[in-house]
Amino acid sequence: MELMEKKMDLFIKKCKQEGLKITPQRIAVYEILLNSKSHPTVEEIYEEVRKRYPFVSLATVYRTVETLEQVSLVRKVCYWGSSARYDANTEDHHHIVCIKCGIIRDIHVQGEPQISEKPEDFEVLGYSINFYGLCSSCKKNHSST
Ligand SMILES: [Zn+2]
Ligand SMILES: [Zn+2]
Repeated sequence: MELMEKKMDLFIKKCKQEGLKITPQRIAVYEILLNSKSHPTVEEIYEEVRKRYPFVSLATVYRTVETLEQVSLVRKVCYWGSSARYDANTEDHHHIVCIKCGIIRDIHVQGEPQISEKPEDFEVLGYSINFYGLCSSCKKNHSST
């Protein structure tokens, strides 16, 4: 089975498990997030959904994304200076963030990160390491000015 099909299969199972109706909008939002590597904002997701469902409202897309987040099908990523973005990759992984335009890409790190001193008052549930930099288009603009 293709990866996309597998993911959609899991999506449908999870929705059923959580008692969520599998609406075309929910499928569209999830598909857009699966196909995107840019970690889009709700507005960006909305622009894409609208191409398929012109009558869908921004509020509906907001609610859909929130619902999917609540059942852990998507993950919210927030960094300073940028609005909330969403990721259909809910496994532990790392990001590189452009400090100028705020785009986020997945990045792979070799080996497992190690904590030298375990925090006493915390139970570690997951981790995400952020790298910061300039994306190629911001770098171009940066050097020309
Ligand atoms: Zn940039
Ligand atoms: Zn990611």
